[in-house]
Amino acid sequence: MIKNSNKGLFVVLSAPSGTGKTTIKNRLLQKDSFEFSVSYTTRELRSGEKDGKDYHFVSRDIFEKKIIAGEFLEYAEVHGAYYGTCIDSLKPLLEGINVLLDIDVQGYLQVKKKYENALGIFIFPPSLLELRSRLESRGLNTATDIETRLKNAKEEILNWDRYDYAVLNDEVENTTKTIHGIVLAEQSSVKRKRWEINTDAFNKS
Ligand code: 5GP
Repeated sequence: MIKNSNKGLFVVLSAPSGTGKTTIKNRLLQKDSFEFSVSYTTRELRSGEKDGKDYHFVSRDIFEKKIIAGEFLEYAEVHGAYYGTCIDSLKPLLEGINVLLDIDVQGYLQVKKKYENALGIFIFPPSLLELRSRLESRGLNTATDIETRLKNAKEEILNWDRYDYAVLNDEVENTTKTIHGIVLAEQSSVKRKRWEINTDAFNKS
C-alpha cells in the first residue's frame, strides 16, 4: 500500500453527471501537469470513448475479481454499474507527479478516509433544471438513465460540504480557471510545503 504521500498533489473532482466535469477535466489536463487516473467500469462503452483512455471497460465478473484481489483504492456502484480506481493510480505521487481522479461522492469519501491529504473539489451544476436539459441534449442517456442520474445528483449535492472546495460551473472557462487557481494555491500551501523546505539551510546564513 502506498503511504499517505505529500509529494504530488492528489486531486479528486466530483460533480453530478451532466455538470460538465469531463470538459473541465480535459481543460485542466492541458493547463496543469497531472496524471489522470483511468478508472475501471462495468458500464457500456459509449460512442466516441476509447477503452484504456476514458475507462478500462471490464465485465462484472472481472471487476468483482479485482475487488476480491484488493486492487481498488475505492470502488462504488454508480447509476447501476461498478466504477473503481486502482491503487496503482497513486504511484505517480511518489515521484512528485500530481494525480487527478474524476470519481463520484461515494468514492471520494472512501479516498478521503484513507488519504486525508487528498484535495476534494466539488463542482455544482448551475441548477437541476439546467442539469436535466444538459443530460437530455447530449443524447447519451436513456430517459430512465436520466431520471436515475438526476436522483443521484440531488444526493451528491447534499455532500458538497465534505469537500475542500466547491465551485459552481456556470461557465466552463471560468470554472476551469478557478480550479486551476485552487491547484496553484494548494501547491504553495504551507501545510503541503513543510516536507520539502529544509529550514536549517536558512538558519545557517
Ligand atoms: P459516467 O458514466 O458518466 O462516465 O460516470 C458516472 C459517474 O461515475 C461520474 O460521477 C463519475 O465521476 C463516476 N466515476 C467515474 N470513475 C469512477 C471511479 O473510479 N470510482 C467512482 N467511485 N466513481 C467513478
